[in-house]
Amino acid sequence: MRKKVIAANWKMNEEYYEGLTLFTEVINIINDEVTGEQEIIVCCPFIHLHSLAELSKGYSKISVGAQNLHQAECGAFTGEISAAMIRSTGAEYVIVGHSERRKYFNETDKLVAQKTDTALKNLLKPIVCIGETKKEREANEQYDVLKRQLVEGIFHLNKTDFNRLIIAYEPIWAIGTGVTASPAQAQEIHKFIRQEIAVKYSREIADEMTILYGGSCNSENAATLFSQADIDGGLIGGASLKSRDFVSIIKAYHVP
Ligand code: PEP
Repeated sequence: MRKKVIAANWKMNEEYYEGLTLFTEVINIINDEVTGEQEIIVCCPFIHLHSLAELSKGYSKISVGAQNLHQAECGAFTGEISAAMIRSTGAEYVIVGHSERRKYFNETDKLVAQKTDTALKNLLKPIVCIGETKKEREANEQYDVLKRQLVEGIFHLNKTDFNRLIIAYEPIWAIGTGVTASPAQAQEIHKFIRQEIAVKYSREIADEMTILYGGSCNSENAATLFSQADIDGGLIGGASLKSRDFVSIIKAYHVP
């Protein structure tokens, strides 16, 4: 059965001690109130990685991830961080190709492919984000855009490496806007992504792939989104910054 995941993306929020407080609250509430088998991943700023990874020890449901990495192994890249550095903090995951990185830092599909390779080589599990803009959806180009992002970003991977990914479908028009894709819209795209994986790899690999939805997901809309056949959880931005809101989303996902 494919893994069910709720991942937090704190983005550039939470000073050092604020992050520790938020994470500790989340752990405590999950420990007391969440019984399902979903995995919870908190993708935090680099400054928190090691402390959160330490705090998560002993809580098998909770893992820690970074939000970006550099594609090179090491070297003269002032201000950047490598996959090995992230791994050495105890973090297990890394977000690759978030739309904010694509938009503000000009990250291309080619760079997404390179970063994904470097993450995998260093035993980090990439959460690879794909999604179309509002303009692309209005022009009904979403399928072409998503297919291009899949082909150029991750379809070069062999089956073993591909199996180690999580994919997040994040329509850009829904990120941080308060506008969510309807459950039917999201399901349609997730089904398309899974079908493309089946064609490229195999039906078995497609059925095992965890595909998350992201974009203004909250405790009100989470249950219906997560009940769709091809949606295996969510990548949560704004609503992950308050422990109660984040845990409500986790609890909205009824995983046995
Ligand atoms: C995100 O940044 O990945 C995200 C989904 O943000 P939000 O939930 O705030 O739309």
